[in-house]
Amino acid sequence: MVATAYHSSPPSSSSYNEEKYQLWLCDRQLPATLQILRFVAFAIVGFGVWDVWLSPDSIGQTWPVRLLALMFVGICFVMLRFTGVAAHWRVLSLVASCTLFSLLLIILMRLPDGSLWGMGGLLLSAFLFRVHSPRFAVAAAVFNALTIIFVYHIFTIDNRILFNSEIFLLIASVGNITLNSADDKSARQAFALEGQLQRMATTDGLTGASNRRYFSAKLTDEVERAHRYGYPLTLILLDIDRFKSVNDRRGHGDGDEALKVVASIGIESGRGSDTFARLGGEEFVMLLPHTNLDAALFIAERLRSRIAEQPIFGDSGQFCVTSSFGVSALRRTETGDALVARADACLYVAKNSGRNRVVGQRELQQHAGAALRA
Ligand code: GH3
Ligand code: MG
Ligand code: MG
Repeated sequence: MVATAYHSSPPSSSSYNEEKYQLWLCDRQLPATLQILRFVAFAIVGFGVWDVWLSPDSIGQTWPVRLLALMFVGICFVMLRFTGVAAHWRVLSLVASCTLFSLLLIILMRLPDGSLWGMGGLLLSAFLFRVHSPRFAVAAAVFNALTIIFVYHIFTIDNRILFNSEIFLLIASVGNITLNSADDKSARQAFALEGQLQRMATTDGLTGASNRRYFSAKLTDEVERAHRYGYPLTLILLDIDRFKSVNDRRGHGDGDEALKVVASIGIESGRGSDTFARLGGEEFVMLLPHTNLDAALFIAERLRSRIAEQPIFGDSGQFCVTSSFGVSALRRTETGDALVARADACLYVAKNSGRNRVVGQRELQQHAGAALRA
């Protein structure tokens, strides 16, 4: 199975993203919202059956409203479950809450002796649909207040019921806004924490590049996708040249600085769909979906010259490093490991033929041919 991009990509360094938060929230809340809709449908039918049993005479009055409520719940359920409107989940929850409120109010107004059940229903409908948004909860409260005023004008209500309804409306609205504000706050905290944990689990602490674990998962995903949809996938392996001597001559601090500079050039050079990861030590990898061998060679060459020309400001003074590159392109039915192994073989050739150069898999074949002829 191909993992979804939203969950497998490491969170961006920008600390907060409202759109991502909304999607994350929807992912978590949608099952609960669907469950509530099932429960409401069950309650409407259950109370209908109960009514038939207790007071068959009142059925004539209430069945149109019950049927309407059931239809509405069904429509909400279908929209949320099957039409992929997950992003509109909050709006639908709000509409569901408000409409249910209005319908229960109408039932209440038509059943003078059933006011207590109706009041209970009002409270329930206000609390059931939690939208994790103080703003939406306020909107629901305003809508519900307007509905009450509207319904009062249509039905003649005695003052006692009117007073009771207002008290219940007030309690439900204040409770709903308070609960939704608290929910929103804790959900935002959980989202930020989850992002932080995900970043720590997928990113290399020193350089900010993706880590080896993330790269391995991404490689498996991308190889599967490339085979399934038939698009090209290439891999650039790079290793800093004579890095040991940078450490030995300038100290580990300057070595670390060089690693950070090389990583930031690699991260900035890629597109959003590319992955730049630190495999370990001074070895990095770039995975490029939808990119053929010639384009990857061009990108590797650009990386090579950028790294070589970039001055690094260390404790020991200014210096430069060079890197060697191996570039491979995925072949039909090949595994990710084989793709990496071929890039590694290219890198080995680059190291042996003078360093600070790019070797692609075509040259690897030429080298093999030359070795055979020799
Ligand atoms: P070559 O050109 O053949 O790649 O030579 P090299 O010296 O770069 O390769 P070698 O594998 O011999 O040395 C890699 C060095 O990288 C050795 C190790 O001390 C250093 N190194 C690995 N991880 C880190 C790190 O996180 N920080 C620093 N400063 N150095 C590291
Ligand atoms: Mg090296
Ligand atoms: Mg190395």
